[in-house]
Amino acid sequence: MAFPIRTCAACSEEFELKPDKPGFANRCPACSEPDPLDLKTKQSMDADERKALIEANEARRRAMRDLLYRKDS
Ligand SMILES: [Zn+2]
Repeated sequence: MAFPIRTCAACSEEFELKPDKPGFANRCPACSEPDPLDLKTKQSMDADERKALIEANEARRRAMRDLLYRKDS
């Protein structure tokens, strides 16, 4: 079953917009996930710490995507 492909507004990755997808319609499932740690630390962290956390999240997302692609091929 095919779903419309959207580009995530947060990380620019393409994702399938499934009707029951939680969160924002313009964000991929990974970016729609609530991140309590991020919310909690947002105010107390400086820009470099935020950047490091975002990069860690992106690396995790990329690893997840790599796994999915490998499963397909
Ligand atoms: Zn995203």
